[in-house]
Amino acid sequence: MCGIVGYIGDRKAHEVIINGLKRLEYRGYDSAGIALYNGSLEIKKGKGKVAKLQSLIDSSDEAKIGIGHTRWATHGEPNDINSHPHTSSSEKLALVHNGIIENYNSLKKVLESKGHVFYSQTDTEVLAKLIEDVYSKNTDDFKRAVQIALAQVEGTYGVAIIHADYPDQLIVARKGSPLLLGIGKGEMLIASDASAVAEYTDQVVYLDDGEIAVIKKDEYQVHNLNDDSLTKEVHELALSLEEIEKGGYEFFMHKEIFEQPKAISDCLRGRLDVESGTITLGGIKDVLGKIADAKRLVIAACGTSWHSGIVGEYLFESLAKVSVEVEYASELRYKESLIGEGDVMIVISQSGETADTLAALRQAKENGALVIGVVNVVGSSIARETDAGVYIHAGPEIGVASTKAFTGQVTVLTLMAIKLAQEKGTISKEKASKLIKELSEIPGKVQKILDKSSDLDEVSNLFSYAPNFLYLGRSFGFPVALEGALKLKEISYIHAEGYPAAEMKHGPIALIDEMMPVVVIAGTNHTNDKMVSNIEEVKARKGRIISIVTEGNEEVENLSEFSFSVPETEDELSPLLTVIPLQILSYNIAVNRGCDVDQPRNLAKSVTVE
Ligand code: GLU
Repeated sequence: MCGIVGYIGDRKAHEVIINGLKRLEYRGYDSAGIALYNGSLEIKKGKGKVAKLQSLIDSSDEAKIGIGHTRWATHGEPNDINSHPHTSSSEKLALVHNGIIENYNSLKKVLESKGHVFYSQTDTEVLAKLIEDVYSKNTDDFKRAVQIALAQVEGTYGVAIIHADYPDQLIVARKGSPLLLGIGKGEMLIASDASAVAEYTDQVVYLDDGEIAVIKKDEYQVHNLNDDSLTKEVHELALSLEEIEKGGYEFFMHKEIFEQPKAISDCLRGRLDVESGTITLGGIKDVLGKIADAKRLVIAACGTSWHSGIVGEYLFESLAKVSVEVEYASELRYKESLIGEGDVMIVISQSGETADTLAALRQAKENGALVIGVVNVVGSSIARETDAGVYIHAGPEIGVASTKAFTGQVTVLTLMAIKLAQEKGTISKEKASKLIKELSEIPGKVQKILDKSSDLDEVSNLFSYAPNFLYLGRSFGFPVALEGALKLKEISYIHAEGYPAAEMKHGPIALIDEMMPVVVIAGTNHTNDKMVSNIEEVKARKGRIISIVTEGNEEVENLSEFSFSVPETEDELSPLLTVIPLQILSYNIAVNRGCDVDQPRNLAKSVTVE
């Protein structure tokens, strides 16, 4: 959440910053702002999108240093005053922030008693005032002032600061929110996400928690909060511009849905050997024995990743015969932690920056568990802090509603479950070979579904204005029902619930009437007969059945008002196919309703606050 960009060099800073903010807008779009220094500090900011901010900036502005921000509001409504950057009382310092200053109220009271006046309702403004207060009273070393001020702060921050007394430097610091430096030739960038710097450089340094960097156009120095100087590794970015552009699609989400055959192929590349029936997962090969011997296997994640975690649970249990608990990372970290030595935790996160997942990971590691990451963004905090892991290689996902990351996560969890089952000897050679062969055919089958996506137009049009939707599934269809409902909620603002089909009778059935579309995910597996009964129960109450079936499931097709079929595959792999029409359905409905598909209200990509 929240995008931060900063620049120092010889270009017009506002151009680089606006460009970067546009790339980061998916991380927050409540408001946007910029601070530029060119003899004096100039700030432009306001509610709304980056395009609006751009229109406020004088294109001839020659400033060569500046910082910018797109906000996802945590404290204070999205309005002009609460927009970042915020300034110190002398207005010599400007700062942008991602995160939450938890003790902002007590700090604010102290600062007010010293005469500082606050204008916004944000937690962030406290930082600007506090740093200046320390700078004017405790030290004349500005970097030291930032360190001293940040040491008083509870909560999380990724922060970028410019100061009129130091017109040739940017200061950035991080605790809990991502920040990286982009090292150019005679210029430097800072950003909360690599996509903002990719156009200018492929050399990046990831800041770690507790680090502060002083950045000039030709050099940078990184220190910890005790002021020890640190040598940081420079990483090479593998991010092409094509990957972060819409490429002819109206929305990133649409592009990302249609990229899934390629994304899954990329995920499988080099990992599957159909002929020998083997799987190679370099990232976990050294710890596979430990995973096989685990006392407990816990999966921790949030949102869509939590849904892929449930698919993971079903896969690990049925194939590797290991009992799995799937936890919301946000709950797990505040529970009595029973995870420790001998346990294995798998954390799943598209961005690799999800604050609660990161915190759960750290807690588990501290308690002695082995932590494995399933992450998309290379070099992200979770990828760096886990003991081992498997990247999903889906490429940048920019649409706020996750699509290709979900199928990528499920693909990786499937690979891991089969690999583990082989290691433990809980899967027959025939079954493993069949799954591996089928897995290799999944990208082609996803393509087949996409090729007939227009078959979903009619049902999308029919139900675009339904007030509620119910999604029902059993076994591997259950997490898909959850994910389908979440997609619809996220981008079309229609209330939707995903339920295990049998649970319907314990409450949601009361909602069913002739207005209620009920989406059922019906395979041809052992639960089909029971699903048929559940469909009859819905129909008996005049509910409208939309079914996603495996080709040939005529029984369910005949019971449905509308039916969409997906190619046959092994039951364990069915989520990779059945979720696709649900993504398309929610996309179509959101477009019909005129919603901003890529930037749905109140949401933002990469949940970096807790
Ligand atoms: N807590 C800050 C605010 O509400 C920062 C939010 C963000 O990360 O965008 O302004």
